[in-house]
Amino acid sequence: MAHTCIHWFRKGLRLHDNPALMAAIKDCKQLYPVFILDPYLHNNACVGINRWRFLIGALKDLDGSLRKLNSRLFVVRGKPEDVLPKLFTKWKVTRLTYEYDTEPYSLQRDSKVTSLAKERGVEVIYKVSHTLYNIDRIIEENNGKPPLTYTKLQAIAKTIGPPKRPIPAPTMDDMKDVKTSSSENHEKEYGIPTLEELGLDTAPLGEDLFPGGEREALRRLDEHMKRTKWVCSFEKPQTSPNSLSPSTTVLSPYVTFGCLSVRTFWWRLTEVYRGNKHSDPPVSLHGQLLWREFFYTASLGIPNFNKMEGNSVCTQVDWDTKPDYLAAWREARTGYPFIDAIMTQLRQEGWIHHLARHAVACFLTRGDLWISWEEGQKVFEQLLLDGDWALNAGNWQWLSASTFFHQYFRVYSPVAFGKKTDKNGDYIRKYLPLLKKFPAEYIYEPWKAPRSIQQAAGCIVGKDYPHPIVQHEVISKKNIQRMKLAYAKRSPESPSKSKGVKRKAASIIEMIKKKAKVK
Ligand code: FAD
Repeated sequence: MAHTCIHWFRKGLRLHDNPALMAAIKDCKQLYPVFILDPYLHNNACVGINRWRFLIGALKDLDGSLRKLNSRLFVVRGKPEDVLPKLFTKWKVTRLTYEYDTEPYSLQRDSKVTSLAKERGVEVIYKVSHTLYNIDRIIEENNGKPPLTYTKLQAIAKTIGPPKRPIPAPTMDDMKDVKTSSSENHEKEYGIPTLEELGLDTAPLGEDLFPGGEREALRRLDEHMKRTKWVCSFEKPQTSPNSLSPSTTVLSPYVTFGCLSVRTFWWRLTEVYRGNKHSDPPVSLHGQLLWREFFYTASLGIPNFNKMEGNSVCTQVDWDTKPDYLAAWREARTGYPFIDAIMTQLRQEGWIHHLARHAVACFLTRGDLWISWEEGQKVFEQLLLDGDWALNAGNWQWLSASTFFHQYFRVYSPVAFGKKTDKNGDYIRKYLPLLKKFPAEYIYEPWKAPRSIQQAAGCIVGKDYPHPIVQHEVISKKNIQRMKLAYAKRSPESPSKSKGVKRKAASIIEMIKKKAKVK
């Protein structure tokens, strides 16, 4: 039977290594590639203007690539469980395909949509391609528990073997019997909206440093993979949080939106490594992709992963509620130039280096401000181009020493840390031009500069730039004691003290599997 198919793009905004799209094309006469602007996911609290621009760019690129295959992208708005049944009827759909997505919201959404599809006789096929492995399998291999250490994850990955090889993008030959019927009204009914049409304020947008889209992703991947020596000697801790141009790949936004397949990334690295001496996980680039896998597995296996309460592996901490401190951190007004420069880069450009994320996350939580990691997570979710539910939650727990990492007495100094890789403070001068005339001696601590130097720099601390919000030396010591207390309160049976947690979240995953065809 020749099918009429909807391929539902959500993440996975690409044609290469897209097994669910290939499943849609198989035995298909009519293909409708659909993207849904879902008010739950696509709202201004979750998506900042930089990320909106990235998404719209990625959709345009996808539409361009589909057009080359004589197809089109159909963008619709609304709740998927409302929108899709209407489209099933309108287009007489017989098959729905999509990429497996393990976020709790996505699992519930997909479960609902799958039921609605089945009720209408629509076959549902989904495929794993957002992660290197089927992470359900990793959990199964670990006796139903998500591995809580990287070493354990690595050991399981080893027993499973290398990730599946990516599959090529569909060709004109694959599409020879497939049509996409679009009307003259397509732009009006199903076109990709502009940022203005979405009612977004584009005034804060700066240069588009990381344009969205699969073609840009593959171009950037190619560029990096040409640098054999750099790739082979890559060691994450040796990269710099405050270089003026990024010291790591910045492929994360492309991986998050699925413009770049993580398996393509993995296998391209394997090719570069072949025959060469190279670094290894956890510090290598392969190692970075395994970190991603680690947090994805944890996020699927640990209920309430993005919260402290109800999260069985997370240390319960009596974080303070200090809206003025939180606002100062978010708005780059802490009075610590290194922290404020990072938060400015985040707001302006949507990407900051991993160790810069360390510095500001530690500062907000256990280091200085004693504000819950959940608050930081929300700000990152909105401002990061690569905002990813699992990675954001997992890394915030790590940095706040709530889960995975327990050396809470190791605190980043908001002054000394940045100096290690940027003595002259060029990074601060770039993002906080107000401070650019301070001599290197004072650029990290302008409040220590004599009045005459502040005057000569044209910036008076307390008037033009704030005094430090807290005294790091004093507060960080107090906070270490508070953290010690929180650790002491953890019950001996607390799963966060043992090696793993029993998985309770299986029900939704199993529900979906029963309803959809797992391939
Ligand atoms: P590279 O070093 O070039 O690494 C290559 C790829 O590996 C990345 O693109 C990413 O997909 C993956 N990766 C690298 N580091 C990590 C890591 N620590 N954990 C998981 N995957 C990793 N990353 C996100 O993609 N989305 C987030 O929302 C996010 N939130 C974070 C929040 C905090 C508090 C911290 C400390 C880190 C967070 N990270 C997040 C992880 C990491 O900082 C970014 O993935 C990385 O900086 C992206 O830059 P890159 O592509 O140049 O990384």
